[in-house]
Amino acid sequence: MKHIELSLLKEQERTVVEVGDVTIGRGLCVIAGPCSVESEKQTIGTAVAVKEAGAHILRGGAFKPRTSPYAFQGLGLKGLKILRKAREETGLPIVTEVVDTRDVPWVSEYADILQIGARNMQNFSLLKEAGKARRPVLLKRGMTSTIEEFLNCAEYILSAGNPDVILCERGIRTFETYTRNTLDISAVPALKELTHLPVIIDPSHATGRVSLIPSLSLAAVAAGADGIMVEVHTNPAEAICDKDQAMTPRQFAAMMDRVRTLHHFMEEAR
Ligand code: PEP
Ligand code: MN
Repeated sequence: MKHIELSLLKEQERTVVEVGDVTIGRGLCVIAGPCSVESEKQTIGTAVAVKEAGAHILRGGAFKPRTSPYAFQGLGLKGLKILRKAREETGLPIVTEVVDTRDVPWVSEYADILQIGARNMQNFSLLKEAGKARRPVLLKRGMTSTIEEFLNCAEYILSAGNPDVILCERGIRTFETYTRNTLDISAVPALKELTHLPVIIDPSHATGRVSLIPSLSLAAVAAGADGIMVEVHTNPAEAICDKDQAMTPRQFAAMMDRVRTLHHFMEEAR
């Protein structure tokens, strides 16, 4: 891996990202919440439910990078204020996407973790700006990016002065059409042997299908991932964005039981 320095694993020292009481990189971290913030009722309802099921961090997009310019782009500032309220009510830290360089400083006042999405993985200006932020960055792998390209993007953030980067594998684009993307499960052990950064899996965008999310979440845990990020909605049928991959709180809670059991087993088997 040429020119990758700060991200590489040396002397087995691993980065543990800390957000309040929550750690990413030690134990299993579960991030859950809606694809996008639609309303106070939907977001806070989902936040309360995922917390109850054992999630550690709330996700929710206020700025949505949509394939079509005509699709819902997110509530923006109003969405961030709703997320802040959800944090006040549940205590869950917030991860939310930032899509524009100019937004990094002020979105950092609302978010506990900044997300850089797959479509922006190689937006180098955005990476540099996120490198200056005083918030951890959850960086998603681009849908056509190699592991080396992914690590180079993490390197942009680290070299700009931000040590807290979380890598997220969210499926890559292949010839398969049954699933929305193809989860590259091998990215988990590959990244864990290459880098000290925490590695999580997003089985929701990887599959686009609720029915497949539990299996892939378990696979992520078995492969040694530090966490998962899952889309949950109080009423998936009415979700404005990504409804086919939105779990109900009940489905999420059932999956969490299995995920926890497997994780305990893995810890004991170590
Ligand atoms: C998301 O997590 O909200 C998202 C847009 O995912 P991705 O960038 O992986 O497509
Ligand atoms: Mn989504």
